[in-house]
Formats: sequence, structure tokens, C-alpha cells
Amino acid sequence: MADLIIMSSKASEAEVEGVVSRVRQLGFDVHISRGQEKTLIGLIGDTRGISDEVFRLMPGVLEVITILKEYKLVSREFKEEDSRITVKDVVIGGEKFVVIAGPCSVESEVGLMDTARRIKRAGAAILRGGVYKPRTSPYSFDGLGREGLEILRRVREETGLPVVTEVMAPEEVQLVEPVADLLQIGARNMFNYRLLQRVGRCRKPVLLKRGFEAKLKEFLNSAEYILKEGNNQVILCERGIRTFDDEFTRNTLDLAAVPVLKKESHLPVIVDPSHGTGRRDLVTPMAKAALAAGADGIMVEVHPQPEAAFSDGFQSLRIEEFEQMMEQLRPLMKLMGR
Ligand code: PEP
Ligand code: MN
Repeated sequence: MADLIIMSSKASEAEVEGVVSRVRQLGFDVHISRGQEKTLIGLIGDTRGISDEVFRLMPGVLEVITILKEYKLVSREFKEEDSRITVKDVVIGGEKFVVIAGPCSVESEVGLMDTARRIKRAGAAILRGGVYKPRTSPYSFDGLGREGLEILRRVREETGLPVVTEVMAPEEVQLVEPVADLLQIGARNMFNYRLLQRVGRCRKPVLLKRGFEAKLKEFLNSAEYILKEGNNQVILCERGIRTFDDEFTRNTLDLAAVPVLKKESHLPVIVDPSHGTGRRDLVTPMAKAALAAGADGIMVEVHPQPEAAFSDGFQSLRIEEFEQMMEQLRPLMKLMGR
């Protein structure tokens, strides 16, 4: 089996081309990554019938690697170094611990503008806010839609903060892509393969949330769907899973997922302690724990008046609480070298 061909550092452009055309001849798509030292050529597709001998003796080939996993492009075997994803001017997966904050839903321009300015001052790097909202009850507020997108556009412009917002359906992607710096796929849609393929074909980075019923293997396979279409800018987000115990928490935040995902994959991993716990008072402790576990950032819900929020008020931090959380995180970031 051949999944990844490592070209020698001395390989010529023609030798690389030779291997690439052989791969294509065999009916595979290729994924080329040109490092400073070596060029890697990945085979995209079912490689089980392909012998590594086909490539081993071709000129310029250093090594042929078999990846014995369902997912390949997202795996550490495929790419050893951490992927850094740039969201407007913010890098996720680098040294800095990135804080994404904002209301669950975009509700009004005045409200969002004020929240955005205040969280930015407190150290948030990216603004969140849903305009297409997946709600459990069909009678609940499901977002402002296009009007919400316009609000996001203006707040983004005014504050300079990059924005992340959810897309629920393939046809929403073309509406959201021009406005958002980062497209969110929600937990409920982690298994929506058509949607994953659609965002895989767009140019904006994607924040993929783990389904609350998803195994980590399924989560990584969902990310693979996006990369397979050509978009390798994916950020993984642990947001809590369903377990037998929902007496005190809305979900069980699986923090062990962080080091597991970082080991299995080169993609950045962030944690959402708001949905992960469903309780405002648990957000700060779990944010600290996420940082300690090696996450590249967090996404938290913040609202100036949670009692009046259209959605998820009970788990949203007040602005002052967000400021306090940031104060408490700062020395820990330093300690963690971030
Ligand atoms: C959200 O981020 O507001 C959201 C709906 O999250 P999840 O998809 O994780 O439930
Ligand atoms: Mn929410």
C-alpha cells in the first residue's frame, strides 16, 4: 500500500512531476506539500490495491509510506509538524493561545458592537456569533439569518476582529463565506458529509465541532472529508459529549480528547467550555484546564445580559466575568509558554 511518497531533497522538479503523473495515471488525486527540505506527495483515494513497489524505484523517491488509518490527510503520519491556521490575521495552532468569544447568537448591532469592543479590550482575538442557529426545538429562535450576517459584517469592519459563524446547510456557505473569516460546522452537523464536502471546496478556514455523539475516530474522519476536497485549513473543537450523567452538566467535556487529537493529528485543537458544561460557573475552570491540557485556544459564549439572551444565556459569561477569566488565564498562558 502506498499513501505518502517522500521525495529526496535532491529530487528535481521533473522527478516530482514524474511521480505526480504516475499517481494520477493510477486514478488518484494528489496532495502535494512542499517543505523546505522535501516534497511530500500524498495519494488521495482508496490505496489498498496499490503496491509501494510502484513508486519505490522511481527516480527521486526517498521513501514510500503506508498509513494504516481510515483518515490520512489529517494524520500525524501524513504531516509531522503542527498545522497553523490563519484566520484573517490570527494564527491558531502556533505559540499563542487564542480566545474566541461572543454571544451564542447575533441579536442586535448595538449589542454586538458593544460586546465585541469589550471582549477585544479584554484580549479576545476572534468574535463569535451565530446567525443560522441549529435549535433543538423548531419553535426556538433560530438566528437572524441575512440580517445577522450584515450585522457581523459591520461589527467586523468597525472593530477589526475576525468573525466566526455557523453554516448549517451547503447553500448557506456562499452567503456566509464572503462575510466570515472562519466557518463553523456545529456539533449536530459533524456527520453531515455533504456539508463537509461543501466547506472543503471553499477558501475560508473551518472550525469543526465534535458531534456530541461522535467518537474521536469519527471526528477525525469528518475533518478528513474537508481536507480531501482540498481545504486543509481545519480547526478541531471539543465541545462536550453526551454521557449517562447530565444532572449537573449539560455535556461531559472530554478534555482527554485534546492530547489524543494532538497526537493523532497535526490540526489545531480548541475547546468550547460553554457548551461543554452548559454552566456559566464552570466555564473559567474548564478554560484553564483546556489550556493546561494543551489546547490551542478556547471558544466561549459571552453576553452583556445573559438573562435576556435569545439562546444559551445560562452558560454565557457576563462581560465582567469574561474579563476576570482572561485575567486568570494570563499567568497560566505564560507558564505554558503561550
Ligand atoms: C454554538 O457554538 O453556538 C453551537 C450551537 O455549538 P454546538 O454545535 O457545539 O452545539
Ligand atoms: Mn450556543
